[in-house]
Amino acid sequence: MPALMQGNLQPTVYRFKLGSFEVATLLDSKAIREGMHPNYGANATADEVQALARANNIDPQRFEHNNIPSLVNTGKELILFDTGNGALPREYEQLKARMPAGNTVARLAELGHKPEDIDIVVATHGHPDHIGGLVEGGKPVFPNARYVFGAAEYDFWQKGENVREARKFNRELFVKICTPLSNRSTFIRPGDEVVPGITAVEAFGHSPGLLAFHIESDGKRFMVTADTLTQFVMAVQRPDWYFDMDDLKDQAVATRKRMLDMLATDKIMFASFHMPFPGIGYIERNGAGYRWVAHSYQLNL
Ligand SMILES: [Zn+2]
Repeated sequence: MPALMQGNLQPTVYRFKLGSFEVATLLDSKAIREGMHPNYGANATADEVQALARANNIDPQRFEHNNIPSLVNTGKELILFDTGNGALPREYEQLKARMPAGNTVARLAELGHKPEDIDIVVATHGHPDHIGGLVEGGKPVFPNARYVFGAAEYDFWQKGENVREARKFNRELFVKICTPLSNRSTFIRPGDEVVPGITAVEAFGHSPGLLAFHIESDGKRFMVTADTLTQFVMAVQRPDWYFDMDDLKDQAVATRKRMLDMLATDKIMFASFHMPFPGIGYIERNGAGYRWVAHSYQLNL
């Protein structure tokens, strides 16, 4: 009797305690992309990028690009950070081939939550993989939620000035999805709190008004860094390398370096939206640079 192959299987939700909060990460979706270069390191050579990929056991021709929203339960509120792709590839012809559909609602069900349980949805920034799950068929997916946007990010997309060519459709999407939600939204700046214990941190560059979030409960610290570090090797070991999806390349580099320094110096555990699932780890100094250390040990004592 042959033993039947069962196909790939990978975990899709992960939850741990942070002080008196609970934090979960969920795998909304995963795209397989072609060519690490020039997606990463357009300001380096293809040889350099491919060599770094191979040195880290990554196939430089095909790579995994995960989308991982985070959920924080403060005991009072359920707060979802970003919503994944949602129904975008079903609703927009031009996205069909480019992105897989999102599964955030199904993942929330695995975690024991219904869409109506979500109290606050925070959009770290306005790119499609972060706002795509806010609305489906013209209706809010999280019917009881209020929304939190970065004020600078919201203004940028609403005004629509200096939007680079590659983001013109993104701008249309943002206006269509987010404008109808504005009467239930608050607009915050770096240093402002979402709720007590959750504070916005300036991380502009990947998008003009990207916000990261610092979360603290009973002295335990954690960060949701969103798209500050978009790949666990390229963005961490070579923060100077440009990433194609960064809207303001040099500001994104400066923000990456500041974030890497802070995460390494303060030894803060963090979730990152595009890292290998569950997307949780630390940054360690490594010679003159840094490396990402995936972490799960002792999170579930
Ligand atoms: Zn993203």
